[in-house]
Amino acid sequence: MSAVIDVRGLWRIYETAAGHTTALRGVSLQVARGELLAIMGPSGSGKSTLMNTLGCLDRPTAGSYRLEGVEVSELSEDDLAHVRSSRLGFVFQSFNLLPRATVLRNVMLPLVYSDRPVRDRELAAWRALRSVGLPEEHYLHRSNELSGGQMQRVAIARALVNDPAIILADEPTGNLDTATGEMVMRTFRYMQRRGKTIILITHDPEVAAWADRTVHIRDGRLFSDEEERAYLAGLAQRGERDAGKKNGPAADPSPTPPTAPKDRSRLLGVPCL
Ligand code: ADP
Repeated sequence: MSAVIDVRGLWRIYETAAGHTTALRGVSLQVARGELLAIMGPSGSGKSTLMNTLGCLDRPTAGSYRLEGVEVSELSEDDLAHVRSSRLGFVFQSFNLLPRATVLRNVMLPLVYSDRPVRDRELAAWRALRSVGLPEEHYLHRSNELSGGQMQRVAIARALVNDPAIILADEPTGNLDTATGEMVMRTFRYMQRRGKTIILITHDPEVAAWADRTVHIRDGRLFSDEEERAYLAGLAQRGERDAGKKNGPAADPSPTPPTAPKDRSRLLGVPCL
């Protein structure tokens, strides 16, 4: 499978009055066409910054981002906007629907600037809604009359209406109960089978389990699942050792020196940036 997203050595440094914050530190990531990828990480680790960059909403400070072979970090604002509206679909935790507009109108929204006739836009919205399995009887309801799961399926239909190559979903099940979240994940799986590449941010390992692959972000650096497991095992070992030291004999004949934070990169087999 070809890489639809190819990110190399991406840095994002925010300059503020208070100084600067490095949100991404040399992130490299390749996502294959048709892959369902989950990105996990604690708050403040750089997930939103990475998603905003992948979604062409923000530019990296340094590094390369090729989207379907095009170096997007060099595109003009207009070209970026065109890539966003034609190649990318966005799904958010809070659905971001217009509450008083009908379901059909909400899904037609991304087509508002297209020169397609209204009938054609309605048909595209209707097809997108059918593809997410929302029963037709709801299409003329106002979106605030729907349940959370139905709203998220409308939001997914809206993301699909332009037939994008990639769907970026930020905590798409964050506001849903487990059963409804599962239904939404099934919808993503179905989209994936129809050729879409899907990247989602989640805190929930059960949601990540639906993905083909999970990557982890910590302090602006990306780690594979294996690296994350090694890191966590190292932390657990260190915890046990420290607890043993507290509870065990006062005079340990050969205490192991504590691992300094800079050793983490060695543990994970990645260079310390
Ligand atoms: P996450 O989505 O994982 O919570 P973010 O990408 O939002 O992480 O943030 C990563 C780091 O960048 C944090 O330290 C955050 O405070 C900082 N940051 C994010 N956005 C900005 C901004 N617009 N200006 C300054 N710092 C920012």
